[in-house]
Amino acid sequence: MSRVLKFDGAPDEIISFNPATGEEVGRVPQTSEEDVRAAIERSRAAFAQWKRTTFAERCRLVMKARDVILSELDDIAHLISAESGKPFGEAIAMEIAPVLDLMQYFARNAHKMLRPRKVGIGLYALLARSSKVVYHPLGVVAVIPAWNYPFSIPLGEAAMALLAGNSVVIKPSELTPLTGLKIVEIFERAGTPKDLVQVVTGDGRTGAALVEAAPDKIMFTGSVATGKKIAASAAKDLTSVVLELGGKDPMIVFKDANLELAADAAVWGAFCNAGQSCSSVERLYVEETVAEKFTSMLVGRVKQLKQGVGSGEDISIGAMSSEKQLQIVEQHVEQFRSEGATIAIGGKQNKSLSGSFYEPTIITNVRNDMRAMQEETFGPTLPIGTFKTEHEAIELANDSEFGLTASVWTRDLNKGKRVAKQIEAGSVTVNEVLYTHGIGQSPWGGFKNSGRGRTHGFEGLMELVQPQHIHVNHLAILPNAWWLPYTSTAVETFRGFAKYFASGSVLKTSLLLPQLFRRIRELQKIRKDSLRNKN
Ligand code: NAD
Repeated sequence: MSRVLKFDGAPDEIISFNPATGEEVGRVPQTSEEDVRAAIERSRAAFAQWKRTTFAERCRLVMKARDVILSELDDIAHLISAESGKPFGEAIAMEIAPVLDLMQYFARNAHKMLRPRKVGIGLYALLARSSKVVYHPLGVVAVIPAWNYPFSIPLGEAAMALLAGNSVVIKPSELTPLTGLKIVEIFERAGTPKDLVQVVTGDGRTGAALVEAAPDKIMFTGSVATGKKIAASAAKDLTSVVLELGGKDPMIVFKDANLELAADAAVWGAFCNAGQSCSSVERLYVEETVAEKFTSMLVGRVKQLKQGVGSGEDISIGAMSSEKQLQIVEQHVEQFRSEGATIAIGGKQNKSLSGSFYEPTIITNVRNDMRAMQEETFGPTLPIGTFKTEHEAIELANDSEFGLTASVWTRDLNKGKRVAKQIEAGSVTVNEVLYTHGIGQSPWGGFKNSGRGRTHGFEGLMELVQPQHIHVNHLAILPNAWWLPYTSTAVETFRGFAKYFASGSVLKTSLLLPQLFRRIRELQKIRKDSLRNKN
């Protein structure tokens, strides 16, 4: 039995199914537009209180939420596995552990990152001015995630938003709504004030209603097509949006790489989460002279992988999260076949299992002009192309509308770093693959159609605050030379600003001082004369 999204005859209910077994996991309401608007209103009220809290209070809440997660570790992992089809162990390793790390990191460090910051203002400082930046929370942060990491992505974004002083409304994917509800339950058990973290369940219509309700920020994870719709809708209210979108991530393997390790990495990078990670290895380019050897290493490793229902601890490859996703994979593999590629292993649905399972598949003889080398597959496929030179490898990797992550394998670290810098992707790893989303300390986001803005790291935290510049004139006794009225003395002074002050050089600027004083005296005289005339 495969997963079908059902509304159970009525348009107001969504049933979540286990894609590996077809069993119902639970049901949730399809939240109406009116209820979404009401949730935003409640969220604004909760924000008004929360923004006044100290970092210590925010930190306590997030650390308490971590304790709740740890106390229910296995149950949460089983829920994630049941709703998404991923192996139980993978739910712990790739969702729960990384988000626990992110939570402790930001709980301990957000206050330092958001401390008021003095800004160097160059020669303006000589005029007895000073500047600092202070960070204010934004307000209501709407989190709209995909189904592939239904726990770690929305929870990580929610935790960061809360630490920055915002309130949160999450609209989980319609394929994994119970995991979304679980996140809110965790915060409630940790003692969150009422309405500070809310969930609105439903499909894209609920997501669209959330965008229409004009939150103060939208953190979206999903497809390019939905990202564009959200950006267009958000633009009506000038709502700022972070878009974490798709990928077609390349892995480059040079002949001098540790091939055994690179083969292990490629198999994990392509097939974990049944290939449904935004940063999955979707294209592998190996140096021609080792291509045959490397391919047979990969095929050998794939033969050892056990596929099955994710609850089994010995299962390496779970089910696809939906029937729709399985069909996309089937189409892409058929496209590869029809365009002349060779299936080295796999290449079909795993019919020995009853759910949405697709066999881990390795494809050779591929070219970049094949359609399935350009579109995101999001499934357990690993197409392998070859290259002769470093330049060619970079060109092949960059030949994509996407630019989320990339992976370079070589024993020559200088070459690795040189190649990494030339690849158009938000995160490039050398002798590593896929896992950098798990490093909450570092920024995450894509180049090109893979997204806009960042989550995680300092850059991600900056997306959740408004910087405010506070500028002080510590010696407010003289008028500024650039004030009105303008005269020929003024214009001569402005020429001096352009030539000397704007050079940034103290020495050159000193040449301007006589002209500056002339202009200030002129302004003082104008002011005095006007007072005299008044009297
Ligand atoms: P999707 O775009 O179909 O849906 C994502 C979310 O948007 C869901 O919650 C959905 O209900 C909601 N939605 C749908 N239509 C909407 C609308 N008009 N307005 C507002 N919300 C709407 O994507 P998906 O199939 O759930 O996820 C798969 C995609 O996510 C892949 O392309 C994958 O690469 C991408 N992804 C990216 C990252 C990243 O960090 N860059 C991480 C995970 C997944």
